[in-house]
Amino acid sequence: MATLTFDSLNPATGETVGTHPNQAPEAVRQAVGRAEEAARWWAAIGAAERRRRLLDYKAVVTRELRALARLVHEETGKPVGDATLELVLAITHLDWAARNAAKVLGRRRVATGMIGLNLTATLEYLPLGVVGVIGPWNYPVFTPMGSIAYALAAGNAVVFKPSELTPGIGVRLAELFEESVPEHPVLQTVTGLGETGAALAADPRVKKVAFTGSTATAKRVMAACAENLTPIVAECGGKDAFIVDADADLRAAADACLWGAMSNAGQTCVGVERVYVVDAVYDGFMRELSERVANVRAGEHYGPITMPGQVDIIKRHIDDAAKSGRLVAGGTGAVRAPYVDPVIVEDVPEDSPAVREETFGPTITVRRTRDAHEALELANTSAYGLGGTVFSRNARRATELARSMRTGMTAINSVITFAGVPALPFGGLGDSGFGRIHGADGLREFARPKAISRQR
Ligand code: NAD
Repeated sequence: MATLTFDSLNPATGETVGTHPNQAPEAVRQAVGRAEEAARWWAAIGAAERRRRLLDYKAVVTRELRALARLVHEETGKPVGDATLELVLAITHLDWAARNAAKVLGRRRVATGMIGLNLTATLEYLPLGVVGVIGPWNYPVFTPMGSIAYALAAGNAVVFKPSELTPGIGVRLAELFEESVPEHPVLQTVTGLGETGAALAADPRVKKVAFTGSTATAKRVMAACAENLTPIVAECGGKDAFIVDADADLRAAADACLWGAMSNAGQTCVGVERVYVVDAVYDGFMRELSERVANVRAGEHYGPITMPGQVDIIKRHIDDAAKSGRLVAGGTGAVRAPYVDPVIVEDVPEDSPAVREETFGPTITVRRTRDAHEALELANTSAYGLGGTVFSRNARRATELARSMRTGMTAINSVITFAGVPALPFGGLGDSGFGRIHGADGLREFARPKAISRQR
């Protein structure tokens, strides 16, 4: 029998942060029932009132920034500064979604182009009803807010299932929402393990599921949704490549590579995991990178590995890479669970797990390539296709490389910056999933187009 409650633990200390109900399918069904009613009310109050309420919620979250960052720190182990940054980015998205929903989704006339017929046409995007949001633990505010804010702004009610590792912050976000929207439970949280998420995905009254998590779980969620033809947006794992071209600024590239790979202990879907450096600058880049990495330590510069089982995966990848490649930094000794110091391995065969599978740790493989073309080819062999980076001072060439990278998003001369720009759609292809959150595409993801033609 399923346990009635579960604890969230501080991964750094093992201390209990909170105890939460492991909500059974019946409790999820009740939440969805309440959400259906709330959705009707939220849709009816109109876009202008929703905008006002969401901007009020933004002010409430901003007011609570310090306490929320503390809670994220306790549940994930990440430094308070990183947790604060995550919250600030989430607030930026909340603001953008609130301010832009009416413009993106509102009714507009469409040219009919039909000669001889006195025909007019309009297009608008209407709310779906109840949206189920299933979230991960690595960015427990930023990531789900990328769906929640846009789904709410589009006029839907949301039932949010946070990760079992970070339930407290999910509960708190919904509690705070009640300050701005006390009338109806427009945003609810259901806490629990995978079964709780499964019950949400299987409920036919949920009109869209926004899932963020591993590729394996996305397939299970899709299978459950298939029963009711419930559409999903799937934001899954990644194995981002970082290309350093011959004319790159090597210092800037080394800074960005280090931050992209090691921040949040590498537990970032768009974290740098594979580095391809063209021959002409390989030695120079590695010198810059080695100098920087020598000063970085887990526990000082970034936090622990949040999910206990992940340490074993990281260790397996490091062991395998160290056997077939050359260690530049770290190695098995870097693992001091729950902490992992930076690991850099050169010349790891492209078919090894450290290159093919998502590691989700502060580890990178680095490979020398003949030229940027070969770097791009190797970058594009991954089954994942989420984000990536190109470093080059040649703007035209950088753009060409970025456009040819088989990813949803690519940063030029920086890392991960696309995620913080609310107007840009976020998402990937292949094993990284499908559909888009953030931006106008993210708003439309949570709405249904309604076309009307009128003959005069
Ligand atoms: P996970 O797949 O283990 O869990 C994600 C969520 O799914 C959790 O809330 C979990 O309880 C729930 N779940 C588990 N089984 C379920 C089921 N059968 N039906 C419905 N829900 C179920 O992922 P995780 O370990 O929490 O997160 C890490 C993964 O998330 C990594 O692969 C990372 O790359 C990915 N991620 C992707 C993005 C993105 O935007 N693409 C962002 C952050 C994290």
